[in-house]
Amino acid sequence: MPNSPRPTSDTLRGKTALIMGVANNRSIGWHIAEAMHGAGAQVALTYQNERFGQRVIPLAEGIGGQTFECDVSDDAQIDALFTQVQKELDSLDCLVHSLAFAPRDALANPVVDCSREGFRVSLEVSAYSLIAVARSARPLLREQGGSILTLTYLGGERVVPGYNIMGVAKATLDAIVRYLAVELAPENIRVNALSPGPIRTLAASGVPGFATMLERFKEKAPMGRATEPAEVGEAAVFLASDAARGVTGQVLYLDAGYRLLGV
Ligand code: NAD
Repeated sequence: MPNSPRPTSDTLRGKTALIMGVANNRSIGWHIAEAMHGAGAQVALTYQNERFGQRVIPLAEGIGGQTFECDVSDDAQIDALFTQVQKELDSLDCLVHSLAFAPRDALANPVVDCSREGFRVSLEVSAYSLIAVARSARPLLREQGGSILTLTYLGGERVVPGYNIMGVAKATLDAIVRYLAVELAPENIRVNALSPGPIRTLAASGVPGFATMLERFKEKAPMGRATEPAEVGEAAVFLASDAARGVTGQVLYLDAGYRLLGV
């Protein structure tokens, strides 16, 4: 993977972004944080629990960003997060939802074998959480409008073997993006999704056959390469910026052309 220097610009100067779901320096959320920081934004990060905090707090310090703990399966933690964000950051211009989870069994088995509980947890954390955080962020974004971004994957619209229940969760997430985009449009809040190809991260390591998926992707993508994490960050900067002020309810594919193919 080419290791190009992070571009810097003033694209997001004066804007504040809250990025939810950073686990470590491989997280897509972290790449977005670095790119937004490079574009001049004030960036704050959330991590799921104390264990992740040990890695995330030092990363955030490196870009002068604040950190907050929040497990999105707990409404009280979501409420506490946004109360704290309002106190410490005042308002937000951008909210990035970069998190997903499915219990091991639910992720490892075909959808036909998914339990009721596996379905509930997977969809609650990976899809419903976007509704919950968008609702809480709304008053902080409303004054000047703003941008909400989430991370989706092709497995939500096509069958990707091994993606299993997470594909069902991403399909739900994609629909939530469209509904929120229309509902929040009168408040000038835009809601969009980024859809990268496979990237090696902690979450990806739980997807059965991920290594094969990545190799096949590189062979088949018309551009003959994997998605670079940095390009996800740069696309997030665009969608959070004033240049994308008329873009809402969209999925931006960062997949080297992979989705275009029928065979
Ligand atoms: P990651 O493991 O670095 O990030 C996933 C994050 O979700 C972690 O920080 C984890 O703590 C968080 N999370 C899980 N359950 C949570 C909960 N209950 N409360 C709060 N946070 C919780 O992996 P990633 O690949 O950077 O994933 C980020 C997003 O990108 C996910 O939505 C993922 O589905 C999506 N995505 C990833 C790929 C890929 O190939 N890596 C491709 C397309 C989309």
